[in-house]
Amino acid sequence: MKIFCIGRNYVDHAKELKNPVPKQPLVFMKPITALLKDNKPFYYPDFSKEIHFEAELVIKMSRHAKHVDVKFAHKYFDEIAVGIDFTARDLQNALKAKGHPWEIAKGFDGSAPISQFVPLNSLKNTENINFSLKQNGEEKQNGFSQDLIFNFSYLIHHISKYILLQKGDYIFTGTPAGVGPVSIGDELELFLEDELMLTCAVK
Ligand code: ZN
Repeated sequence: MKIFCIGRNYVDHAKELKNPVPKQPLVFMKPITALLKDNKPFYYPDFSKEIHFEAELVIKMSRHAKHVDVKFAHKYFDEIAVGIDFTARDLQNALKAKGHPWEIAKGFDGSAPISQFVPLNSLKNTENINFSLKQNGEEKQNGFSQDLIFNFSYLIHHISKYILLQKGDYIFTGTPAGVGPVSIGDELELFLEDELMLTCAVK
C-alpha cells in the first residue's frame, strides 16, 4: 500500500508559501509508518521547531490504475477521507534550499493522521467537496475541491503514467491556504462538509 501526496495544488496556498504555481502535479510519497489512525494523538518530534498542519482531502484507489485516461479516472476511486499532511517546515525549507529530497520533513512517524473513509456518493456535492480544519476551536483552513489546480481525475491520470496505482493506495490531494504551526497542547479538528471526521491532539 502506498501513500501519495500532492504539493501546491491550490493557488492560494502556493502563493502563501511564495512558491510558483506548478504546471504539472508535484508528487511525493509518505511511508505507511506515517499514518495515524483512530484519532490517535500526534507526538511533537524533537527534530523540529516548526511543525505545520496541512488539511487535505484524501482519496482511496478502488482498482489498480496504470496509464489511465483523465476521462475514465473517476472510475478508479469511490471513497474519500480527510487527513493532515504534517510538515516539519523548518527541515523542509532547509532541504528545499539545497535542492534535496524532503522525505524526512514530510514522511516522519505520525505525519499523516487520517479519518475513516466514506463513500463518495454519500456526500452532498461530489463536484465541489468542502472541508475545513479548526485549531483549538478556531477555523484556520476551509477548502473546496473545485479550487484544486489538478483535480482527482487528473492526479490519477498523472501518477499512473509513472507508478502503478494499486487498490487501497491513498492520495493526499493538497492543502488550501491557511497552513500554520502547531504547539503541544493543541487540538486539531477536521471536517468533511459539516461532519467532524478527525480529531488530533498534539502532545
Ligand atoms: Zn500537503
